[in-house]
Amino acid sequence: MGHACPIDVNTTLKDFGLSPIPQPLPIWWSPVVWKAHENLANQIWNLYNKGELPAQGMDSLKDCFVEPISDVRLSQAINDRFLQGSLSEIKKINPKKFDVLSQKYRIENMAFRVLDGAGLDHKEAKAVLSDLPAGFNIETRTLFFNISNVSRSEWNVIFIHEMGHFIDPIEDHIEAFNNPKTVHQIDLISANNTIESLSVDDGRIIDEWLMHGLNIGLLAEWRVWNFTVDYLSNATNYTFGPRSKWLQPLLKMNILDRKMKIFAILDNNIPDPTTERFSDGVIPKRLKQIRIKLRNKILSGDLQNLQR
Ligand SMILES: [Zn+2]
Repeated sequence: MGHACPIDVNTTLKDFGLSPIPQPLPIWWSPVVWKAHENLANQIWNLYNKGELPAQGMDSLKDCFVEPISDVRLSQAINDRFLQGSLSEIKKINPKKFDVLSQKYRIENMAFRVLDGAGLDHKEAKAVLSDLPAGFNIETRTLFFNISNVSRSEWNVIFIHEMGHFIDPIEDHIEAFNNPKTVHQIDLISANNTIESLSVDDGRIIDEWLMHGLNIGLLAEWRVWNFTVDYLSNATNYTFGPRSKWLQPLLKMNILDRKMKIFAILDNNIPDPTTERFSDGVIPKRLKQIRIKLRNKILSGDLQNLQR
């Protein structure tokens, strides 16, 4: 059963003189159609803001694609409207910081995709998000948002967080972690040793490699949550949604305590990987050790060489 389109497409088309479709197509056709798409995207953004977009989110939009509204163009217009709308909201939360980020990272030009159920940008979005409300694809440097999974009350926080991933440079860590030569070396060391027989040099090689992995995972999340809370720190009147309420007490802490607390929370919630070379032997044991060291270091307030 189809969902009813939540926006009044036909009225918009009539307003723009696009219904019925003029024959033959006049020269002004393309920009006018584009305007109509923008107008519809605007209506969708407004509905989302009021919490009136149906629960199935973009799925409900598939009934909106009546000629000459194309799914691809409407998708582009929606992405653009949601990005610009989000940016102008988070600018209000921290104008100073926003300007710095805007100059340094050109956040206005971030690739941004709103996920829908109607077949727009579907494959890549699904791969990045799986069940997550939002995510960042490091390869295509694209932010993804699943509109059906992000409630309005959490949107800004999640947007700031994903933007934090956009500006957090982990490419070098990814390259080093995936370097075939290093991985081969790691596997050899792991296969020929027990945790007790590991030489100092081999231990160091494994630890360096594990630190690259932690910088892609746990430590990246730590940096980006630190950034998120830092960005929000002046927003004392901000109303947090139920899923981001845990951030509220952090705003009142001093920076060091806050960073330690965020680490403790993430450390508790992010388990070690268990696949492939992490399933057995030297590597998972060494990872446990390195995480204990890291935990002790950070929770004692020693953040040196960890923060950019
Ligand atoms: Zn994250």
